[in-house]
Amino acid sequence: AKHEGLSSTKFYEHSYDDYAFEDQWFHMNLKQALEHNEFCMYYQPQVNIETMEVTGLEALIRWNHPSKGQISPQKFIPFAEVTGLIVPLGDWILRQAVEQILVLEHNGYDDVRISVNISPEQFKHPAFIDTLTAILSERSVSPSKLRLEITETMAIDHESAVIARLHKLDEMGVTVALDDFGTGYSSLKYLSLFPIHCLKIDRSFIDDITSNVKNEAIVRSIIDLADNLQLEVVAEGVESKEVLHHLQQLGNQTIQGYYFSKPMPTDQLLPWMESFAKS
Ligand code: C2E
Ligand code: CA
Ligand code: CA
Ligand code: CA
Repeated sequence: AKHEGLSSTKFYEHSYDDYAFEDQWFHMNLKQALEHNEFCMYYQPQVNIETMEVTGLEALIRWNHPSKGQISPQKFIPFAEVTGLIVPLGDWILRQAVEQILVLEHNGYDDVRISVNISPEQFKHPAFIDTLTAILSERSVSPSKLRLEITETMAIDHESAVIARLHKLDEMGVTVALDDFGTGYSSLKYLSLFPIHCLKIDRSFIDDITSNVKNEAIVRSIIDLADNLQLEVVAEGVESKEVLHHLQQLGNQTIQGYYFSKPMPTDQLLPWMESFAKS
């Protein structure tokens, strides 16, 4: 097999001509957007179903383009990954999350963790662990306040390197969630191999849980599996009271979704947390 370094990206094999005009536009503008501070982080609450307390927040990036308006991460993250810009952008995201942890601490929210999505290209970069360690220690933030959301697809090329890195994170005290759980190609294998702490059940299983008996059975089984493996479970994409009540019958989990709140800009976050605690 062809040897590839940890930081290599198979996407580099494409020629520039393969990309449509819109893609080229992203290539040219993402770097500038980072330099011009056009990105910002939104945060979406994660609520424990038993205590009804906010236990975490997921950091979700937004691009406020000066003329195009807000651009979805689903559109630009893939191009940040292709160009390698995800590495400096990812560092910026981690720094933002760490600052937000300090803001939460200063406001008395000592038990709220921030989850950050990590792209495979960022996770596999040789400097990732050192950079993460530096970002946390520069601001004296406890590693336990940070959770990384990864997907199992990152293990396709470099399984043993990924596992070694996950062990390092575990030693540091940074917890890891397996994102989009159930949609990957070999979930159970990675559950056995990865030292992780949390499963995020993909929104596609949660959406129609009240009417789709198969998805209901799958969600029930994932919660059971997580329980047996002593992993936390986050159900994402909960939009209605009906879905919430249904999930409540299936056992202890954390809930994330529009039902509680859409992702919020930082200026709305503390007021929301305060009013939620009172309700
Ligand atoms: P994801 O990690 O699966 O994030 C969950 C997505 O579901 C978010 O979309 C969130 O806004 C949306 N969502 C949350 N609750 C609900 C709900 O009740 N209903 C519906 N319909 N949607 C809900 P968003 O913010 O557009 O992000 C999309 C994807 O972009 C993320 O999927 C993640 O893969 C990627 N992404 C976002 N921010 C970052 C980032 O900072 N770094 C990296 N590497 N990727 C990111
Ligand atoms: Ca996520
Ligand atoms: Ca998802
Ligand atoms: Ca995802």
